[in-house]
Amino acid sequence: MTRDPRYDILFEPVRIGPVTARNRFYQVPHCTGIGWTQPETLARLRGIKAEGGWAVVATEETEIHPTGDCEPFHEGRLWDDRDIPAMAIMADAVHEYGALAAIEIMHHGGSAANWGTRLAPMAPSHRPIIYYSPVQARRMDKQDIRDLRKWHRDAAIRSKKAGFDIVYVYATHDLSIAQQFLERRKNDRIDEYGGSLENRARLLRELIEDTKEAVGDKCAVAVRIAADELIGDIGLTHDGEARDVIAMLAELPDLWDVNISNWPNDSQTSRFAKEGFQEQYTSFVKSLTTKPVVGVGRFTSPDTMVSQIRRGILDFIGAARPSIADPFLPKKIEEGRVDEIRECIGCNMCVSSDYTSTNLRCTQNPTMGEEWRRGWHPEIIPPKKSEGSVLVVGAGPAGLEAALAAARRGFEVHLAEAGSDLGGRVTRESRLPGLSEWARVRDWRVGQLERMANVSIYRDSTLEAEHVLEFGARHVALATGSTWRRDGIGRDSGFEVPGFDLQNVFTPDDLMSERVPSAGPVIIWDDDHYYMGGVLAERCRAAGLDVTIVTPAAMVSAWTVNTLEAVPIAKRIARLGIDVVTYASVVSFDGAKVVLVSGLTGEASELLCASLVTLTARLPVEALYLDLEGTRDRWTDAGIASLTRIGDCWAPSTIQQAVYTGHKWARGLDEEPELLIPRELPRIESGRLKVDL
Ligand code: ADP
Ligand code: SF4
Repeated sequence: MTRDPRYDILFEPVRIGPVTARNRFYQVPHCTGIGWTQPETLARLRGIKAEGGWAVVATEETEIHPTGDCEPFHEGRLWDDRDIPAMAIMADAVHEYGALAAIEIMHHGGSAANWGTRLAPMAPSHRPIIYYSPVQARRMDKQDIRDLRKWHRDAAIRSKKAGFDIVYVYATHDLSIAQQFLERRKNDRIDEYGGSLENRARLLRELIEDTKEAVGDKCAVAVRIAADELIGDIGLTHDGEARDVIAMLAELPDLWDVNISNWPNDSQTSRFAKEGFQEQYTSFVKSLTTKPVVGVGRFTSPDTMVSQIRRGILDFIGAARPSIADPFLPKKIEEGRVDEIRECIGCNMCVSSDYTSTNLRCTQNPTMGEEWRRGWHPEIIPPKKSEGSVLVVGAGPAGLEAALAAARRGFEVHLAEAGSDLGGRVTRESRLPGLSEWARVRDWRVGQLERMANVSIYRDSTLEAEHVLEFGARHVALATGSTWRRDGIGRDSGFEVPGFDLQNVFTPDDLMSERVPSAGPVIIWDDDHYYMGGVLAERCRAAGLDVTIVTPAAMVSAWTVNTLEAVPIAKRIARLGIDVVTYASVVSFDGAKVVLVSGLTGEASELLCASLVTLTARLPVEALYLDLEGTRDRWTDAGIASLTRIGDCWAPSTIQQAVYTGHKWARGLDEEPELLIPRELPRIESGRLKVDL
């Protein structure tokens, strides 16, 4: 297939100072939860992006000094020369596929507590650390500023030695010291680094000049900066101080990388922002500089990308999440395979990897984070080694991914689904407020499956044990999903809760199948703590009902801290007039009121409740498995070599985990079972841990 000429503009080379990018696709710096801890894992992950056609592939934040240490988060490290080899293997992996390697060197200043190194953080002025740590950053004196400049310069030189082509000066996300100097609210200095904007921008200017002077002969120098902080005039704004700083330094760097700060603003989920959402804040930058500009906006549509370039908004299509969901996005556009792009759904499971300091995971791309340790490639999957067909029962995210991965391996695949719609929970959930992009999990997989000659899809086909035995498939995957409990058992209560069997009790499954509360007040008992409670509250509020969320946690949708949604959700809930009762448990329901017990005082109270929506836990739909289990002695005669439960039917979890287990199952067919989880192990030599000092 050939590329649509409309997209030619995306494949023009662009010069960035002394280097040239082969096209306009730019993987901006993004966290992985991996950082300095697993260099091979990271190198392979980034190398695959280069293979997938990104012209620039960047690191995550890379710390330049122990005084800016953000443990327990795992970011890059270039504290001293000993860190060069680990960074170099990533640059090499990126160069192997003809891309430019970029490195975002930075100092956290007043945004990291230095829990690891136990050194005092430092910042422009005395201020508490931005996250709720009982730690303050101390005000830097002139020697500190000279030291900082030297560390940054040394890190730039190390970056060049490691082979990087683009070296960043970082001033956004409220995470970097250069941005903290810019911010009036964090900089009350009275010397030449404080006061006027020119003074507050002095450090940023010096870091750019130092970096250019140190490595500018060979490396491009990029500035990543906040175009707005979305907090009005007390912060940097696109029509105020951010604009003025960029105007002041317009021609100094070789490239401007712009976004909205802080990270929750920059990486908003699809529930809160759609493709291209940053344009209104970043579009001014190109009018101020002749240097190339990269920006982001969860771009997955090539038409939107072309529009950004043609309208003079951006020179490069920046991407973090779209490059995670589909590392081969540029190649697919280049090769005229646009309908194969696996579009990011904007769920921020990837972000939760960083927040939990675990390998990058992605709902859409099950190979993410597994490139090195399991040798998984997003586009290549080993062919099957044996004959025989595959039967997948259930077409939710687990079943769809299992069917697709098995079909790509060359198996003859039969996919049976009880309902008339494919997609299982993603189809049902995508109809809820704000979750429409969840359907991309289904759409991409169904789109691929429908084109494959070795795949048969049976809708409206509820399979029973006898059907499975009669089918004659060699490998069977049961992906029959899960249902929400309606007995109250969950985290908060290990026992059934009285009254949860009444007529006016609803589960998320009810609401998703249009059995919705018609009378208020509605109590949402949210012991799930992820997005569903808030979404169902919105759903009931939109129907005009009074709604109260009751949670045993300290905040609504507590786990969404890890997806950067906690504050946006809390804001939306508040603005919709939905009440929240925290630190409380629903202990009984009599059909007209719930009894709550405070987790703080132990006191009981009552709340009127015409409809109770309960989110506690889920149970696997395992009737089919249990029936088949009873026929185990017939499996061999029926030709069944393996029968496996995957996804929520094995263990109810996230959509990401359902996709992942489906993929893993298909990869494992014909393979020896994995006994040990592959990992980067410390080297032991002569009975001692080998540590390179
Ligand atoms: P997962 O997240 O694990 O993919 P889902 O709940 O999203 O699980 O999807 C499970 C799918 O399995 C649903 O679409 C459901 O209709 C289907 N299903 C459940 N039992 C059967 C069965 N016996 N035969 C065919 N399909 C089934
Ligand atoms: Fe997109 Fe979700 Fe994957 Fe992140 S985890 S890249 S938001 S699909």
